[in-house]
Amino acid sequence: MTSALNAARRDRDLLDLGDDPRVDLVVIGGGVTGAGVALDATLRGLRTVLVERHDLAFGTSRWSSKLVHGGLRYLASGKVGIAHESAVERGILLRTTAPHLVRPLPQLVPLLPGLRGGQAALVRAGFAAGDALRVAAGTPAGLLPRSRRVAAAEALRLAPTVRREGLRGGLQAWDGQLVDDARLVVALARTAAGAGARVLTRVEATAATGDRVELRDTLTGRTLSLRARAVINATGVWAGEVDPSISLRPSRGTHLVFDAAAFGGLSAALTVPVPGSVSRFVFAFPAAHGRVYLGLTDEDAPGPIPDEPRPAEDEIDFLLDTINPALREPLTRADIRGSFAGLRPLLQTDADSTADISREHAVLTSPDGLVTVVGGKLTTYRRMAEDAVDAALANAGLVAAACRTARVPLVGAVSGARRDRVEAPPVLVERYGDEAGEIVAAWLADPASREPVAPGIDVTAAEFDFAVRAEGALTVDDLLDRRSRIGLVAADRAAALPAAEAAFARAR
Ligand SMILES: Cc1cc2nc3c(=O)[nH]c(=O)nc-3n(C[C@H](O)[C@H](O)[C@H](O)COP(=O)(O)OP(=O)(O)OC[C@H]3O[C@@H](n4cnc5c(N)ncnc54)[C@H](O)[C@@H]3O)c2cc1C
Repeated sequence: MTSALNAARRDRDLLDLGDDPRVDLVVIGGGVTGAGVALDATLRGLRTVLVERHDLAFGTSRWSSKLVHGGLRYLASGKVGIAHESAVERGILLRTTAPHLVRPLPQLVPLLPGLRGGQAALVRAGFAAGDALRVAAGTPAGLLPRSRRVAAAEALRLAPTVRREGLRGGLQAWDGQLVDDARLVVALARTAAGAGARVLTRVEATAATGDRVELRDTLTGRTLSLRARAVINATGVWAGEVDPSISLRPSRGTHLVFDAAAFGGLSAALTVPVPGSVSRFVFAFPAAHGRVYLGLTDEDAPGPIPDEPRPAEDEIDFLLDTINPALREPLTRADIRGSFAGLRPLLQTDADSTADISREHAVLTSPDGLVTVVGGKLTTYRRMAEDAVDAALANAGLVAAACRTARVPLVGAVSGARRDRVEAPPVLVERYGDEAGEIVAAWLADPASREPVAPGIDVTAAEFDFAVRAEGALTVDDLLDRRSRIGLVAADRAAALPAAEAAFARAR
């Protein structure tokens, strides 16, 4: 079966389900967790339907720092098991499942006068522990180099705008970085679709139990009732809307968006400790479309869950105030081109601060059999999905094949010498892996499709066409805000809007 997702396939799938509404598993939520669950279940042979009320990666999964973590932060709080799990999952993504979407990213802590000896020693010890985690997880240094101290000149090569005065060099460690988080979600959903899953965006679950889900097509208003042998709620911060017995305590994390030029060609994650803390850092890192993101905050965010959270003014000040002492020229609000915020789906506990709430995931089963999977990290989505499907099978008394997701590459996955043979510019291979050839073929067939979608933007019209034809984009927002991340800068979004509209006009 093809992995292509598009409007025609969606219509067909909805019609088929209208004729025969009995399936094995319904997954609610099209973030990284739900897409991972759909892939896991489909590969085990279950007839699976995923429903997402907006678009793939509409929720938290597109607001992350896009890092594939080795779990160092968990180690700092003594959680060795989850740190190890994170490092193992990072290795699986880098090597097998998504080597095209994840690359090694050096992380640089500049040794500046503000970083006192004790703090520097702690960072060094943390990086050494990260090396041990990597080794224990079986990830070779050839894939992610070991940490080291670098000279001032090397620190400045990696992060050219760092303050030179008093710079004693830097501490460097390596982690994984996604080309973009939303692209991982789309690749997961498409791989699931290729294995036979029905992936339905703009379909909302309006009610769910362990064996029935009421659906509403948000494009037509039509409703549909599915009978399922198991149902998994993977709706992240919205999990309590689907199962009211679940109580979450979301925490907001904010990033700012800059032009890469503001950081002078940064090629590492420039990492600066938050004054007075030994475990919190802000970091600036290179990102898609010639930009740099600067994050990250951790703010209690009680109250109703917005569709799109927004940064608070004091978070913007905090990020600038923390990074600026490490820079030669301070950045100001005038340098900021955009900002974004996401809500971490943390389970309610007795902890005082959201920063203390466990980032571990939880699988919970309600009395009527509805399974909820929540928490965790983007990095650990695969393990979360495996645990959720195991729980759903056990609960429903279903027998299915064992989990296979650690060995199945996602659509486009390519690495090593095969990657070198893909005849396409590197920026395309990072986005599409071995499917990059399809974009190049479109350019050759129609040279106009090689035009950038807006001046200075590294996305071409052929990529918008591919997103409509194969990546399930149904609206211009899907193209601008999730298949690409052009929309993170409002001015760029406005400039690319006509090209997004033209892509849908061509598809009609
Ligand atoms: C600021 C920030 C930075 C982070 N950085 C990292 C990082 O660098 N690395 C990392 O590993 N992790 C990171 N994380 C954690 C990671 O992003 C999340 O754990 C993960 O994305 C959660 O995914 P999810 O699929 O569970 O939820 P979501 O992505 O929120 O998906 C839930 C989906 O359910 C849909 N939905 C809700 N209700 C319904 C309904 N009734 N019917 C149908 N659909 C519905 C929503 O539209 C949404 O798309 C970060 C988190 C934040 C907030």
